[in-house]
Amino acid sequence: SGPEAARLVASRVLDVPDFPKPGVLFKDLMPLFADGVAFREVIDGIVAYHGRDGFDVVVGIEARGFVVAAAVAYAAGVGVVPVRKAGKLPRPAHSVSYALEYGEATLEVHEDAFTAGHRVLVVDDVLATGGTAEATLDLVERAGGTVTGFTVLLELGFLGARQRLAPRPVHALLTV
Ligand code: AMP
Repeated sequence: SGPEAARLVASRVLDVPDFPKPGVLFKDLMPLFADGVAFREVIDGIVAYHGRDGFDVVVGIEARGFVVAAAVAYAAGVGVVPVRKAGKLPRPAHSVSYALEYGEATLEVHEDAFTAGHRVLVVDDVLATGGTAEATLDLVERAGGTVTGFTVLLELGFLGARQRLAPRPVHALLTV
């Protein structure tokens, strides 16, 4: 259930100060991934929220999003499409660049990743400023996918990503 999934995320996240750089409080969800019972509950919670027939393909954002995406896709009986950092995909790809606090990042998806009309569920582990999510949703649409949902395990609510991504819906199992 929703409250149970939220409780599991809250109890299995480790706060790591000053990673990957000073001033950042890194939310490490690997203890959740490593706990088979908790992981299954959380994945089943995502599938239940969107409905087993509510999406046709799942997009995961490199790299921790892949863990979530593959499990959600398997549980729903659909496929998974990776959104990757620049230069990793072997075939022609769409690219979207976006600003980071310092510098710029680029995400890519294969041009033929989506079947026209397919409903795409995008997943990631942590939603912070929303820059990564915004770029990914743009990328999916550019490649011809229709974004039907976006779910993260943990949302850092004070950073305002929900407003940034509006009117696109954001679903978080837990918001802190
Ligand atoms: P953002 O684009 O700011 O929303 O950052 C989101 C991406 O960076 C996600 O792929 C997260 O995995 C990662 N990320 C950003 N901030 C954190 C954090 N404090 N703890 C863990 N992961 C983070």
